[in-house]
Amino acid sequence: TAESAKSFFRRNAFVLFTIAAVLLGIILAFSLRPYQLTYRQIKYFSFPGELLMRMLQMLVLPLIVSSLITGMASLDGRASGKMGMRAVVYYMVTTIIAVFIGILMVIIIHPGKGSKDKLHREGRIEQVQTTDAFMDLVRNMFPPNLVEACFKQISVPENSTGILENVTHALGTLSEVLTFEEVIPIPGSANGVNALGLVVFSMCFGLVIGSMKQKGRALREFFNCLNEAIMRLVAIIIWYAPVGIMFLIAGKILEMDDLAVMGGQLGMYTLTVIVGLLIHALCILPLLYFIVTHRNPWVFIAGLLQALITALGTSSSSATLPITFRCLEENNGVDRRITRFVLPVGATINMDGTALYEALAAIFIAQVNNYELDFGQIITISITATAASIGAAGIPQAGLVTMVIVLTSVGLPTEDITLIIAVDWFLDRLRTTTNVLGDSLGAGIVEHLSRRELDAQDCELGNSVTEEK
Ligand code: ASP
Repeated sequence: TAESAKSFFRRNAFVLFTIAAVLLGIILAFSLRPYQLTYRQIKYFSFPGELLMRMLQMLVLPLIVSSLITGMASLDGRASGKMGMRAVVYYMVTTIIAVFIGILMVIIIHPGKGSKDKLHREGRIEQVQTTDAFMDLVRNMFPPNLVEACFKQISVPENSTGILENVTHALGTLSEVLTFEEVIPIPGSANGVNALGLVVFSMCFGLVIGSMKQKGRALREFFNCLNEAIMRLVAIIIWYAPVGIMFLIAGKILEMDDLAVMGGQLGMYTLTVIVGLLIHALCILPLLYFIVTHRNPWVFIAGLLQALITALGTSSSSATLPITFRCLEENNGVDRRITRFVLPVGATINMDGTALYEALAAIFIAQVNNYELDFGQIITISITATAASIGAAGIPQAGLVTMVIVLTSVGLPTEDITLIIAVDWFLDRLRTTTNVLGDSLGAGIVEHLSRRELDAQDCELGNSVTEEK
């Protein structure tokens, strides 16, 4: 009836607007494409999209810090330990499955068939040890300077074992061939924050002020209030999101090369990544959610739609974070003690799509070079791809950069990243959406598994409230 249609519309207004905006953006872009706008005109055109990106990014830093601190402070040590364990197990299991699917797909489909000559190893880039990759990862968990961590992605330590220099060197080569002014996250440059370091610090800080009882109250209230205020800002920005997403997507379509470049190996490679991501996002993750919670994963995913579309539009899981929060809390009713704790960590370290893509792309580059990887090297690739996905920041094309680590770990030429750059902006969007989906389903799963602790805490709180009365 008209009444129920109205209420359906009211409940889903944002999602409907967002979907309409995406469609409108696509139509607009394809009708403008024949006019061959200049680079400058396209930039003007996509300005409203750029603004959305900036607004979301503006909120990320205070959001991560305040939600983690309040999240940790509101749980007692034992409960947060248990939830933390569950989240980490979920992250690890899903990332490993993702890497496995990526490797399986690239081996079965073999997109790099019929390629250039055998690879001549130049030995110019020093082979990086897997341990170095891990040491750099752990190093960045402990930023020596918190202020610097707020505007530097990673700091190169004096005693670096070479890996960061390699990344920087390879980026130098890459920046010469990059045509778009994509936000390429150059290590040590001012793009983005060292989210990993801030996550670790905020968690410890939250735990400590949580355990300080009465003495910690002022700080707890401060961060709680900050978090509340940021979420209110999110509620405002969300009104603008459909407009921004429309221009982001339209701008990108106007900017992209003709689809003809997608022929041959690159097309097959793109297809392989898409198939891999689809299997992971639409089969494995929902299945896992269903097995653990016995609830319908599609209902849960429907509640996330706006976050998923934002991920598609911004290709940044950290910029999407504010919207992910809202979708999970408002639409899916996930407990705030869980979202505050699991989402920022997930957006920083849990990147299934990126892990899948990095392993797949590295093996594709090996195939293109006719370079036979032995079993040990494939294992090395899976380990470094996992590490690289943890280390990658949730910003556009971060995965392309951390791929340097994966390639150098088995001695593949990093210059060959240029082979896949042309399609990366597109694959980046898909893997970001997979990343956001993985984080969100993880929040649902961890909440389900932690019901007992949450209820116990509710009970305690209830008791203390009645006692106070
Ligand atoms: N853009 C991705 C994200 O934000 C990271 C990547 O490049 O894979 O999740």
